[in-house]
Amino acid sequence: MSSQSKSILDTPIEYLKGVGPIKADLLKKELGIYTAMDLLQSYPFRHIDKTKFHKISEINLSDEYVQIKGVLNRLQVHGLARKKRLTAHLKDTTGQIELVWFKGVSWLEKNLQPGVEYICYGKINNYNGRINIPHPELTLPNDNTQTSSHLAPVYHSSEKLNLKGLDSKGRRKIIFHLLQALSEDRLEEHLPDYILQKLKLIGRHEALINIHFPHNQEILDQSIRRIKFDEVFYFQLRMSQLRAHRLEHIKGLLFEKVGNYFNTFYKECIPFELTGAQKRVIKEIRIDLGSGVQMNRLLQGDVGSGKTMVGLLTMLLALDNGYQACMLAPTEILAQQHYNSLLHDLEKLEIRVGFLSGSVKGKKRKLILESLANGELQILIGTHAILEDKVVFKNLGLAITDEQHRFGVEQRSKLWKKNKPIPPHILVMTATPIPRTLAMTAYGDLDVSKIDEMPPGRKAVTTYHKTEENRLYVFGFMKKLIAEGRQVYIVYPLIEESAKLDLNNLMQGYESLERDFPKPKYQISIVHGRMKPEDKDYEMERFLKNQTQIMIATTVIEVGVNVPNASLMVIENAERFGLSQLHQLRGRVGRGADQAHCILMTKKNISKHSFKRIQTMVRTTDGFEISEADLKLRGPGSIDGTMQSGLAMFKMTDILRDGEMIRVCKEMAIRIFEKDPKLQMDIHKKMRHHLDHYFHLVKGWSRIS
Ligand code: ADP
Ligand code: MG
Repeated sequence: MSSQSKSILDTPIEYLKGVGPIKADLLKKELGIYTAMDLLQSYPFRHIDKTKFHKISEINLSDEYVQIKGVLNRLQVHGLARKKRLTAHLKDTTGQIELVWFKGVSWLEKNLQPGVEYICYGKINNYNGRINIPHPELTLPNDNTQTSSHLAPVYHSSEKLNLKGLDSKGRRKIIFHLLQALSEDRLEEHLPDYILQKLKLIGRHEALINIHFPHNQEILDQSIRRIKFDEVFYFQLRMSQLRAHRLEHIKGLLFEKVGNYFNTFYKECIPFELTGAQKRVIKEIRIDLGSGVQMNRLLQGDVGSGKTMVGLLTMLLALDNGYQACMLAPTEILAQQHYNSLLHDLEKLEIRVGFLSGSVKGKKRKLILESLANGELQILIGTHAILEDKVVFKNLGLAITDEQHRFGVEQRSKLWKKNKPIPPHILVMTATPIPRTLAMTAYGDLDVSKIDEMPPGRKAVTTYHKTEENRLYVFGFMKKLIAEGRQVYIVYPLIEESAKLDLNNLMQGYESLERDFPKPKYQISIVHGRMKPEDKDYEMERFLKNQTQIMIATTVIEVGVNVPNASLMVIENAERFGLSQLHQLRGRVGRGADQAHCILMTKKNISKHSFKRIQTMVRTTDGFEISEADLKLRGPGSIDGTMQSGLAMFKMTDILRDGEMIRVCKEMAIRIFEKDPKLQMDIHKKMRHHLDHYFHLVKGWSRIS
């Protein structure tokens, strides 16, 4: 930045014209605006076309925001004290409309001038069938800070801000003054010319001015585009920087051999042909392992796509090269199941596999830890208990985490330290379908592999929505499937806050089920969180062995259990589950080759949001589509911590809509890093400076990097 513009934009907000200490305080608290630069970067979320006015007679409820010009009259205060409300009418040549205020009534009463023409902007409201405009913005037609351009910015506001004159109109004024003060200076450009030209981007200075007061729609669009570019591009640049740093400074264990374990298993023990996607991913992993650089790979694949097999083959590569491997699962049951199926899969090979979780204690635990430290144990499967400091490996070469969304970044870094001085290779497996653009941003520093193909013969699960009235039909359907030799899951929600009620629900469901499905013809397993682990295991075991036909459970079966013979999943109170949970649950069926079904049971009347979730489930089994729907329904605020901090810096960019921009930026960042990995070239100097400066300021960023 040039020294001059730096001095203005670094000005603390309280020293700007029209701000002062009270407003400054509020700007800091409510909007995180501390300096002139922050203010400049608090972008409007829309613009009003000042040249267009609605005729009052033509306004109807389908108009969202309107701008009208008219004479103010009939100011009236109703009610007392806190209930006070001010109404007025605005009249143009075609009719009149009611305006109403609930806050700041006394001030408005004193300052608004009846009989005077105002420009009024606001959101249309339906008040018992009558149209009015609550808290409209009123300006005098000759107020020059408001009319300097045809397109006037509208800023997000809050009640607190409105009360102190920091509503959209007030902020517009302050920013207008700031831009005037800036007009002598030019904000320095930090992108090299070749990028500006190649992507036809306007200058940074133009963009930051015109995002607020554009002269026309075209320059506004260009400003938006430039600002989005900066957000995404610098993010991608940073990701590439981190990755480059990792590649250069973090050595990796060299796995050069493909040996006996891998080959024997591959040739003799896999009961099926690997899918093309599985083969491709294994190749990608093998390249990493042979590169001398530490692998940090995210393996994405929808529920049932066969990630475990890829994980297992990778572990065998570690063993072939004389290293140990471990795999972490988020729950005891899932870890147990991985352990059991691994023992089964590895039967023919002489490999020593151990299991560790919080419930492994005393002598057993001691033995595991000993044989881990002396290298006798080659594979360890378990829960986060593996992360404890006391768990020491002789030479850990590979750590896999399953369902990574439940493991934080911190936990991953603990895994890094399990081997010294060179950290183990890391493979992170997740079925949580993340929209592509989100993955590109949130996991930009990981390499991503994707299994985008299901094992052959899988049929998409058919999903139905039913209510209590259809209960008999549902029971009938269950009986039919059971008669064909199939098994059924029934899942109840369990939310911590209402755990007791939920448990009652489950028990009631169980009792009514026992009446309709009497012993000995039908056998029912029940599993819930209050049971002892041994009892749970016993019940799971019975279901796994097809000794029981129905498994009734809380969400404990959410992740991982694998019973290919189960072909129906009934989800009770489905309206209480989130979309990704429903998707995970449904993934428990349809693991064999036959048609599987899922029935979502809900109350008759459910909220609009719940209904949309259910509809999404009925419509599609595509995990990516579901995650996008989820994100749209819940908003980006719902994204988990790691990703959140990655998104916090996107003020303008919409992760879901700006996919093309994200792709372009990623490519550009990669290309630049290929040519100039340290950004040392003269043309990149300013860019590097900005990059360091920018990320220094972003809160929460350090957690990712
Ligand atoms: P997820 O990706 O959800 O972890 P799993 O690894 O549990 O999926 O695999 C689901 C099921 O598909 C398992 O029963 C597994 O044995 C089976 N499977 C995996 N790969 C294949 C394949 N290539 N062909 C047939 N079945 C497969
Ligand atoms: Mg799995």
